[in-house]
Amino acid sequence: MRPDFQMLDRSKTYLITGSAGFVGFHLSKRLLDLGCTVIGFDNLNDYYDVSLKQARLDILLSASSSFTFVKGDLADKVAVDGLFATYSPSVVVNLAAQAGVRYSIDNPYAYLQSNLVGFLNILEACRHNPVSHLVYASSSSVYGMNDKIPFSTADKVDSPVSLYAATKKSNELMAHCYTHLYGIPSTGLRFFTVYGPYGRPDMAYFSFSKKIMEGEAIKVFNNGDMYRDFTYIDDIVKGMENMLCNPPLENEHGDRYKIYNIGNNKPEKLMYFIETLEQCLGKKAVKEYLPMQMGDVYQTYADVSDLEADFDFKPNTPLSDGLGSFVSWFKEYYTH
Ligand code: NAD
Repeated sequence: MRPDFQMLDRSKTYLITGSAGFVGFHLSKRLLDLGCTVIGFDNLNDYYDVSLKQARLDILLSASSSFTFVKGDLADKVAVDGLFATYSPSVVVNLAAQAGVRYSIDNPYAYLQSNLVGFLNILEACRHNPVSHLVYASSSSVYGMNDKIPFSTADKVDSPVSLYAATKKSNELMAHCYTHLYGIPSTGLRFFTVYGPYGRPDMAYFSFSKKIMEGEAIKVFNNGDMYRDFTYIDDIVKGMENMLCNPPLENEHGDRYKIYNIGNNKPEKLMYFIETLEQCLGKKAVKEYLPMQMGDVYQTYADVSDLEADFDFKPNTPLSDGLGSFVSWFKEYYTH
């Protein structure tokens, strides 16, 4: 554990972009439950079911009067500058992005707007306002076809295999410049396949569940020969809660810049994942076996030794428990 470790400061104002999204919703809810002031920002786009985003937002709005929601677009510099001028956030958590590896194959421009122009607007706003810590979402996809396992943040990774991954790697490089030039402490988080209640309909655990329940065939890419480090949402939130008030210490170059993996450190084979999901749903899947998809990678596997060293924390929810919680929510929310 870092000797200077600070508990979460409830008196600070936390700006969470992407607060109507899956991870942003759960993080916002946790901070509100702890008594913090949270400003949420999201454009509520229709990349997936907008009513799910609205449902998350309704929960946050009814959870606490300390939650304020601002609808706006990251790529709109005037909106982002206005947000910072009005609310003066102390800690900024940038989760808003165009997510999804496969979608980036056919929709490249959405990624440039939200993930590059939008992120630059956040960096510029941090530069001109008194922000004590910028935390932003990167992704395990930056590791590309890396075959050295587990994936370590010390590995040099510069060969993304999707535009989504390229924008996430770019975010890490852009944050580095702003930390170095303007002294903004920044922490990048490489999330590994996050799943759980209120999750994303575009992700496999969700779309598989829907198809299995409806008796439709699920697409099993690379004939099921793939590994993913599935990470339960509560572990992601716990990891983030630990670091929000602990900006990085100076590295060997004098920069307060750090990147962490947040992953389960226990990759599971896709076929095991499907079997576990079938057990939780109580129904067998019809499977259509297909070759590897463009932009996909064979495996993901997080080395989390930095998380353990700095925060004495490691994600540890077993897949069967996490999928069980997801399925309970899914059955209640989505099949009513
Ligand atoms: P999500 O799509 O559920 O949430 C993103 C939110 O950002 C959405 O509500 C969307 O409306 C909003 N948004 C998108 N573009 C915007 C823009 N230009 N302006 C304002 N709002 C905008 O995704 P998530 O799963 O919650 O992911 C959160 C972050 O973590 C993203 O940056 C994503 O790339 C990253 N990530 C997620 C995973 C995962 O498995 N969920 C894995 C790796 C990285």
